[in-house]
Amino acid sequence: MTMNWQAIAEQIEQATGRPFSVTEARPVGGGDINEAYRLRDDERTYFVKLNRPASVDMFEAEAEGLKEIAGTRTIRVPEPVVCGQTDQRSFLVLEHIEFASSNSRSERQLGQQLALLHSAEQPYFGWHRDNTIGSTPQPNGRYNDWPGFWREQRLGFQLRLAAQNGYRGRLQSQGERLLADMDALFDNYRPRPSLLHGDLWGGNAAVAAGGAPVIFDPACYYGDSEADLAMTELFGGFSRDFYAAYHEVLPEDPGYRVRKTFYNLYHILNHLNLFGSGYLSRAEAMTEQMLAEV
Ligand code: ADP
Repeated sequence: MTMNWQAIAEQIEQATGRPFSVTEARPVGGGDINEAYRLRDDERTYFVKLNRPASVDMFEAEAEGLKEIAGTRTIRVPEPVVCGQTDQRSFLVLEHIEFASSNSRSERQLGQQLALLHSAEQPYFGWHRDNTIGSTPQPNGRYNDWPGFWREQRLGFQLRLAAQNGYRGRLQSQGERLLADMDALFDNYRPRPSLLHGDLWGGNAAVAAGGAPVIFDPACYYGDSEADLAMTELFGGFSRDFYAAYHEVLPEDPGYRVRKTFYNLYHILNHLNLFGSGYLSRAEAMTEQMLAEV
């Protein structure tokens, strides 16, 4: 379908108070979930994500997360311009950021700034609204009890989804046992609620031209900072400089190495639900590994 940019250009005009008429719309690759474009007129450039009209909630939650991270003034994120829907599409228009290569200085800054984001204590575990992780629903709510939140809204939710997707049997029986026994992982550890990016793999962090680290495409909520840190280790892409700078601000808890797998199980279950059975044996192995720890 050829995209009619007129409705989106009008929304940009309204949001910015300046005329905008598209002179170039160039597709941008690299995302898993949405179509993305770089949109230009003679003066300005925007980054636009598109999806089905029904996905407008997903984009609203993303824009709210970006604004909340920006409000902490700890780490750069693309500024949301406007989101909404046309009869064909839902859209999220963001500030367009030119990216540059990372170096040890930008990696250190990224680590330090992420730790500063995580340092401010938030009022509860969860978030004021539900959002998505990839395109999977991510329920939040407000909890005082972190293990309870993780059991119900994270692992339990993905396990139920996996059952609906036909992954029954061993994954479910072991998953149930882990949900029942997981509190042991928190015997000597009481995390505080931090604002998390929520989906911090290497593809969602970069360096802006000029050198400032940027994170984008968040799935925000208030949770244990270890959950964000764990995901940085899941698919690689973050350097020793990053971790050294992070831990200068927030030292590593001795139980992190064990809980890392526990937190990353959430993302592997989500990958199983999104991308299919190629992730099943890894999900089962991680569940088994955690059962041996509890
Ligand atoms: P998806 O939601 O589909 O996963 P992303 O938000 O990850 O999409 O964006 C896809 C790609 O577009 C990223 O990998 C990144 O290279 C680029 N990108 C993301 N945000 C911006 C931005 N604000 N400006 C310029 N490029 C961006």
